[in-house]
Amino acid sequence: MTAATRVLVLNSGSSSLKYQLIDMAGPVPGARRPARGVVERIGEPGSGVADHAAALRTVGEELAAAGHGLDSPGLLAVGHRAVHGGTRFTGPTLVDNGVLAEMEKLVPLAPLHNPANIAGIRVARDLRPDLPQVAVFDTAFHATLPEHAWRYALDPAVADAHAIRRYGFHGTSHAYVSRAAAELLGRDPAGPGGFNVIVLHLGNGASASAVAGGRCVETSMGMTPLEGLVMGTRSGDLDPAVIFHLAREAGMATDAIDTLLNKRSGLVGLCGDNDMREIGRRIAEGDERARLAFDVYVHRIRKYVGAYTAVLGRVDALAFTAGVGENSAAVRAAALRGLEGLGVELDPVRNALRGSGPRVVSTPGSAVAVAVVPTDEELEIATQTRDLVGERGLSLPPPQ
Ligand code: ADP
Repeated sequence: MTAATRVLVLNSGSSSLKYQLIDMAGPVPGARRPARGVVERIGEPGSGVADHAAALRTVGEELAAAGHGLDSPGLLAVGHRAVHGGTRFTGPTLVDNGVLAEMEKLVPLAPLHNPANIAGIRVARDLRPDLPQVAVFDTAFHATLPEHAWRYALDPAVADAHAIRRYGFHGTSHAYVSRAAAELLGRDPAGPGGFNVIVLHLGNGASASAVAGGRCVETSMGMTPLEGLVMGTRSGDLDPAVIFHLAREAGMATDAIDTLLNKRSGLVGLCGDNDMREIGRRIAEGDERARLAFDVYVHRIRKYVGAYTAVLGRVDALAFTAGVGENSAAVRAAALRGLEGLGVELDPVRNALRGSGPRVVSTPGSAVAVAVVPTDEELEIATQTRDLVGERGLSLPPPQ
């Protein structure tokens, strides 16, 4: 009989379904990924993919064509990316009807993401009711934030009545990268003396976190992913009174302000482009708006590095990850310029070298190691799923 060692990782968005089949057997779990892909334009007219059920049937066909159909006995479990776990879900969770009902209750906190995650879980369960379905929440890694970090300075009666607090996102990436950075530097994340790292996840969305001894103690995204760093299309931090001003003085409706701050701000708002490669090209041609967008972006990162250095007290490493963090030597160099006083010394040659694996880009003498650590959220989801389910899988009662 085939051992069940493969985890199907599903990331269901509102209009796309990404999947990876990850083999957790062997000396390097996740080294083998027999299939991966994405089904796009779900629910769009003319796309031929009416809903998430149809999308998962397509995934099933693609997996079957790769010789690993959804009915394969080698499949151990399905690991689902889930965005918002609120205060209810603080770790990977085996999904049953009760869990789905709780996830439904969290929809107001993530109206764009949670419904798609729930749809993905339901259709996967319908297709393979015997398989464990595990939800891995983007917020979970931040559940260890102390209250003085997660609480906003609001009347607790008002805040608590409306579930207003900092939750943080990208947690699966921060968990993976903080551990991988410790491994790269030969440190035990939670070992004696602890390992303190600031993770800078700079993708289209961007967030920073401070991780002490394997536990997250501070993070830049808040109740929603809008807070914190400058992002591709999101403003990040701003004075909340800007919103009242736009409503009163510019006559903007709530939804229009929401769209402005989430979709038409950040890099795209500042210069019209949200792709750092394009911004780099424009800067090389002397484009002033692109230069300003870049400067605002890296200044925000530098401020957070300083703040999180103070939060941690002692920093062992900074770890850059995601599309911009892994690929833009210019952003890393500009964000860390002038931080020698904090013990951060980037090595210009190492920083400029392109590479695909985890690597150190600071000088040998830098008190704070600077690392580039490619994130792997799918592997983290597969690992957490396998660890929860166990090597042999769980025997589940039939769905209620
Ligand atoms: P997402 O948040 O969508 O997962 P990614 O982590 O894939 O985003 O990051 C996407 C962003 O990474 C792009 O918008 C682009 O700005 C940036 N990026 C990708 N490749 C490069 C590169 N070679 N140089 C600079 N920036 C890059």
